[in-house]
Amino acid sequence: MKHILALDQGTTSSRAIVYDDQLRALASAQKEFTQHFPQPGWVEHDASEIWASVLATAREAIAKSGVSPGDIASIGITNQRETIVVWDRKSGEPVHRAIVWQDRRTGDYVSALREAGKEIFIQQRTGLLLDPYFSASKLHWILRQIPDGHARAASGDLAAGTVDSWMIFKLTGEHVTDVSNASRTMLMNIRTGRWDEDLLALFDIPRAILPKIVSNSGTLGVSDAALLGAALPVGSAIGDQQSALFGQLCTKPGLVKCTYGTGCFMLAFTGVDAISSSNRLLTTVAWKIGDGPMQYALEGSVFMGGASIQWLRDGLGIIKSAPEVNDLASRVADSGGVVLVPAFTGLGAPYWDPTARGTLLGLSRGTTAAHIARATLEGICFQVADLVSAMEKDSGRKIAVLRVDGGACASDLLMQTQADLLGLTVERPKNIETTALGAAMLAGLGSGVWPDIDSLVSIREVDRKFAPTITIKDRSARVKVWKKAVKRAQKWEL
Ligand code: ADP
Repeated sequence: MKHILALDQGTTSSRAIVYDDQLRALASAQKEFTQHFPQPGWVEHDASEIWASVLATAREAIAKSGVSPGDIASIGITNQRETIVVWDRKSGEPVHRAIVWQDRRTGDYVSALREAGKEIFIQQRTGLLLDPYFSASKLHWILRQIPDGHARAASGDLAAGTVDSWMIFKLTGEHVTDVSNASRTMLMNIRTGRWDEDLLALFDIPRAILPKIVSNSGTLGVSDAALLGAALPVGSAIGDQQSALFGQLCTKPGLVKCTYGTGCFMLAFTGVDAISSSNRLLTTVAWKIGDGPMQYALEGSVFMGGASIQWLRDGLGIIKSAPEVNDLASRVADSGGVVLVPAFTGLGAPYWDPTARGTLLGLSRGTTAAHIARATLEGICFQVADLVSAMEKDSGRKIAVLRVDGGACASDLLMQTQADLLGLTVERPKNIETTALGAAMLAGLGSGVWPDIDSLVSIREVDRKFAPTITIKDRSARVKVWKKAVKRAQKWEL
């Protein structure tokens, strides 16, 4: 029997899962690690602590599974994206804390680039919108922070990479990164799949510090036998959202997934076409399998997804736990005219308005906590519906089904509301741990456990399909009210 070890390195915890060749999870382990907030808007991780948590969970999952390390065909890696690690190539030790994707410290630097008129050039080369979120400005910052940073980078003393690259380095000693993670650095040309000299010059990053860009599936390195009890090939590495897209088997153009976690992340697979967005979505590499072509996706995100439900719990105190939102919202047949625009931290695609703020409208003397709970679920779904319509406009293609995953997709009411407000079927798989699954599938493909993608289709099982139950007329009336509410939420913090 061939097994796969999936390593899912997230923003707050690291997880390891051992799968069998039918993608059944035999055992798993999870470990949280420290979040450092040295200043408002700054978020850092200790890369050594991340690596320790990865290694400990990998060992624990293997031990619990009872599988002999020699029976593991390969390791699949998926990770939090954009977070950047810089380490000393000789000692293998980080020289600075990792700067996490959420970190906003490079806001001024990025604004200066915008004022210098670089935004369109960057979007054309990378598919990304100019924002501190991506790795380039963070790496620029670190190299200025450490003594002789730039010179040490240029001489090859230092190595940099996103978390996939750091994990592969610690496992195998190789300095590589996969093309999906590289596409989030803002330093890679999205069409060639190579580091872009003009972008390296713009961000003043020496080429010598960067890893070699490799495919998402194949043999990316072989682990040191002393670490996990056997020398194991690294069969895949892929950013978390792209991994979930693959885990949902959205491998044909037009297939779309949405992950309902703290935020919501929607990706639409577009095949070999890197579609430039006119609606402020991101163009991103989905994956490259072995020697195959690069394949792409459009991406949009909602900042407050499940986090809106957490606000009902922690901010308003009208529920004690997130799942309770369903009972509370079910007490009323509709929101009674209440609309919540959950723009607590601004609005993402397609609005991109950092000055927007959360807005609760349509209150009356009859409004109850139940109406607000229902309006909160609807607010999540309306935002996702906005992403779907932006993706349809950009791709010129109607979306037929929305495949869903993430913690909040457990809510039947949320998923039914989503189907109603989209006018689309929403499809929830049995296994909603699609992030780890995608990396496991790609690792298995890379190491011969499965011959091709078609052989995986029979393994994916659907739990439930939610079909729309409201009329088109009703839906467009509600969307109209939502758009009106969004206008009220925008341009608030001026
Ligand atoms: P992340 O990976 O971003 O930490 P998860 O995928 O674990 O997030 O999802 C957690 C989110 O899902 C929380 O914000 C929580 O509010 C929401 N959530 C979890 N279970 C339910 C449920 N049964 N009904 C509604 N929301 C839920």
